[in-house]
Amino acid sequence: MDIELVKGVGRVTLNYLEKLHIYRIQDLIEYYPYRYNILKIVSIDEANNEIPCTIKGIIDTEPKVAYIKKLNKLSFRILTDNNLVNVVIFNRAFLKTNLKIGREINITGKYDRLKNQFVASDISFDKINGSKIYPVYHLVNGLKNKILSNIIKEAFNTRFDLEDYIPDYLLSKYNFLNKVDACYEIHNPSTITRLKQAKLRTIYEEFFIFMFKMNYLKHKYTISNQGLIRNVDRTKIDEYISSLPFTLTEDQKTTVDEIYHDLTSSERMNRLVLGDVGSGKTCVATIAMYINYLAGYQSSLMAPTEILARQHYQSISNSFNKLGIKVALLVGSMKKKEKDTILEKLINGNIDILIGTHALISDNVTFKNLGLVITDEQHRFGVNQRSNLQNKGIMSDVLYLSATPIPRTYALTLYGDMDTSLIKTKPSGRKEIITKVFKNKEIKEVLSKMLEEIKANHQIYVVAPLIEDEDGNTELNDVINLKEKISLAFNNKVSVEILHGKMKNTDKDQVMNDFKEGKIKVLISTTVIEVGVDVKNSTMMVIFNAERFGLATLHQLRGRVGRNDLQSYCYLISDYDSKRLHVMEESNDGFYISEKDFELRGEGDLFGTRQSGDMTFKMADIKRDYKILLQCKNDAKHFIDDNYSNNFQQYQEFREIIKQIEFID
Ligand code: ADP
Ligand code: MG
Repeated sequence: MDIELVKGVGRVTLNYLEKLHIYRIQDLIEYYPYRYNILKIVSIDEANNEIPCTIKGIIDTEPKVAYIKKLNKLSFRILTDNNLVNVVIFNRAFLKTNLKIGREINITGKYDRLKNQFVASDISFDKINGSKIYPVYHLVNGLKNKILSNIIKEAFNTRFDLEDYIPDYLLSKYNFLNKVDACYEIHNPSTITRLKQAKLRTIYEEFFIFMFKMNYLKHKYTISNQGLIRNVDRTKIDEYISSLPFTLTEDQKTTVDEIYHDLTSSERMNRLVLGDVGSGKTCVATIAMYINYLAGYQSSLMAPTEILARQHYQSISNSFNKLGIKVALLVGSMKKKEKDTILEKLINGNIDILIGTHALISDNVTFKNLGLVITDEQHRFGVNQRSNLQNKGIMSDVLYLSATPIPRTYALTLYGDMDTSLIKTKPSGRKEIITKVFKNKEIKEVLSKMLEEIKANHQIYVVAPLIEDEDGNTELNDVINLKEKISLAFNNKVSVEILHGKMKNTDKDQVMNDFKEGKIKVLISTTVIEVGVDVKNSTMMVIFNAERFGLATLHQLRGRVGRNDLQSYCYLISDYDSKRLHVMEESNDGFYISEKDFELRGEGDLFGTRQSGDMTFKMADIKRDYKILLQCKNDAKHFIDDNYSNNFQQYQEFREIIKQIEFID
């Protein structure tokens, strides 16, 4: 590994770096500090005994070490601004050899003017004029900031590859530093102004790459925009809609109209349906598949988890089988023989609708005439995976479903390459889910509320952050433990089961089925049930260590209940009094919660979008740097438009470059 070539990186350090996911010199160079300390030199006149400060001086006497029991005390004198000042520093006797008379030194600490004594807590030998900015890194136990900082500095003395992804003309337009200089500045800031320039450039580049990918997809779409023109009898669709056990909400109707228009016009559909959990997106998607089926084409629906894919499969085949529509399931855990049968039927056109997970985008999946691609819970798939499935149909229309109600402005940017349908209204008859935060010591109250629901023959979800507390030393609740506790609390008379990601698929299915059929009353799980699971009879969601989950996750989890006209409840158990949890008490509206989430978080994750690899930025922050993001959106668009028509060669090359880094997720 090339990283071992960096001076100062030995076996021990290598271990630390690995923990930080630093494997290559390039990773080291792109391991940016999360903040900076500014060390400012003051004159001895400004120094005092209250607030630590840093002074600069020249060592004037040979340092002496005195031992007092287990302590050692180093003392010497320095000359600073024509004053002689006595310096003491405790337990740093090992520094003695470095403290040569005549050497310039910075000392940080407090100054007792009466005694003319400076008690130092820190010493450095950096040449500082006025002030110096020090980078501060996220570390692991045992690794010191200074050591990491030095290693990164050393890395710049080795050979490394660092691709600059900002096109030349943009570099000069904005007068950006070149990449290596910017990185160097970020780790070794010279002045605040230059550091800002370096950071700006780095943020710009991260956003530019992201927006390039987005715009590239859109562009690819537009140039191959010739879509399937479907001739479908609208009355048949209306008949199908009337056959549903409910009437569509206004927003569902509008969305269906938009989809109908897309599917019957000559332009390819590229549409995002954005709606809260339970707002009826899947229902709309089913109608879209029906329209596509009537026109004689195959559809595919890709879900982020197997549980969800299976659930979609069950409900969709239920309603479609009687219409003679052939629905099949394809997931990774199926036996090869099973898969092969399905693949063969698929290519022969004996399957109308294929539902599955990531398995759908593997190379050996070939459709006869794929006309519609639906991706559920869109934010969980990276941009690349999306485009992969799209490529399987020559002119297929694309529909994305997302339950991540991100603030509108951001949605327009992040999904700027698509048309958007919003489903804001909930199906009528739904009651607000009553949400309340409880402390652990109030657990009895929660248990008695659970019992009430069980007596009413309703079902309950319980969520914990861990499967099993192996070390037994965290204060977190785990699934295994909770099963015991809860069963015991109900005198083992209530059927309590567990569900988690480490279970075998067949066991998972069994549990899920039993829960659906009402055989299981209390289902304890990790967040595997977060997405989409639909059991109408469940009316209570109890979440332990709720402080551990983001608002997005909590909202998704809560969406598992309140799926009919029964009053439902969500209890959040946490000993930490947090504003976030109270937002959940305040509102059931995902869009409101996402705005709040955004407000409450200083930096970082945009309502769960980090889950897709595309959105992980090393330095950029969508909220803080939103203006830069908008600029990059424009620049990337122009870059693609101009280069595509003027200089195909350059465009191709750039695409290749970006591709290489596209697949790190
Ligand atoms: P989403 O995919 O947005 O989470 P679904 O389409 O799964 O929502 O709908 C949630 C539940 O509500 C399903 O059980 C569905 O049958 C039902 N549903 C959908 N639309 C309506 C409606 N207009 N009126 C009543 N119930 C509906
Ligand atoms: Mg069309």
